[in-house]
Amino acid sequence: MQELDRNAASFIELEERYGAHNYQPLDLVVERAEGVWLYDVAGKRYLDCVSAYSAVSQGHCHPRIRAALVEQAGKLSLTSRAMRNDKLGPFLQRLTEFCKYESALPMNTGVEAVETAVKLARRYAYERKRVAPNAAEIIVFENNFHGRTTAAISASTTELYRHDFGPFTPGFVPVPYGDFDALASALNERTCAILIEPVQGEGGVIVPPPGFLKRAWGLCREHRVLFMADEIQTGLGRTGDLFACDHEGVKPDVMIVGKALGGGYYPVSAILASRELMELFGPGDHGSTFGGNPLACAVGVASIDVIESENLPARARYAGARLMHGLRELASPAIGEVRGRGLLIGLELTVPARRVAELLLERGVVAKDTHATVLRIAPPLVIADAEIDLLLEAIAAALKASL
Ligand SMILES: *Cc1c(COP(=O)(O)O)cnc(C)c1O
Repeated sequence: MQELDRNAASFIELEERYGAHNYQPLDLVVERAEGVWLYDVAGKRYLDCVSAYSAVSQGHCHPRIRAALVEQAGKLSLTSRAMRNDKLGPFLQRLTEFCKYESALPMNTGVEAVETAVKLARRYAYERKRVAPNAAEIIVFENNFHGRTTAAISASTTELYRHDFGPFTPGFVPVPYGDFDALASALNERTCAILIEPVQGEGGVIVPPPGFLKRAWGLCREHRVLFMADEIQTGLGRTGDLFACDHEGVKPDVMIVGKALGGGYYPVSAILASRELMELFGPGDHGSTFGGNPLACAVGVASIDVIESENLPARARYAGARLMHGLRELASPAIGEVRGRGLLIGLELTVPARRVAELLLERGVVAKDTHATVLRIAPPLVIADAEIDLLLEAIAAALKASL
């Protein structure tokens, strides 16, 4: 581990003393950031390959998003949904037209949007499919990550996320990710939806077998089961298309977005669906005090503007291909596999990922281990060619040092 300066050590000390210990962060204390670069309290710069798990896809402190935030902050920040404001309508129009859906329901964090989708699916079960009361089932996938609420961890199969947090919310049926036959046999008359990440992010950047999403989608249509895509991490350009589902021409019934929708500035999430499905919600039966607030809407519109005007999905496709090619060219014995889509890349290592993350940090790159042997590399989508080359050099050196 690199030498910490006294200043950095004191900030870490404060977090440890006064905070809950529910994370195990790298020993890096960031003070400011711009584009793909982070600067620590001693002024040293690091290339950010975490991007706050895709929440800063547009790059840190993007001037256009910042301007929208600052302008709106001086005008109107929060009304609650007890009344209307002049930002929500235009935001909903921009979001739905951009994502090609008829309607949207805004929330704040990703997991709240997941919860919203779960509630929609259950109501669909009772009102549209005549499933017996409280019997609705949602099929989920092993190794998923949908967030940290009690319902989301009830859908999880990861012991770390669940241990001693029971009792769990019933109604989630896990099947192996990418296993069509398992999905087909889990499906029954109580099934109202499947909830799927088109690439598993937290699970270690797992890409399903080609054709799986399309077949799963076809099965859902056949049985009037909702196909609900959790694209909180994969969506809005990360994987080289607007949505990871686009790679297989799949149009989910319910699309769940978050992270990059807030441009790194503010939590903004939403579900997108047809008007007909969204009508399952009525006045007062679901909501959030902060959901769709004017500040969030201003940031959301600016975040979409940047994704569109800077062509970020195409940028991710190009940069991701270049980076993955470079990683394979390294032909390092420390690399077991390079996988991913666009700029969501998983390096399966033959050495401990945490160790490589620490070696990278010493070389001015921040990348996070997920699981013991996987390093996730997901820089902001605005990463330039020269920065990709720097990154490849640092990775080559860190892998060499790890052996
Ligand atoms: C990050 C993430 C979530 C949860 O989002 P939060 O904003 O942390 O609540 C849900 N699903 C996926 C796929 C994610 O990557």
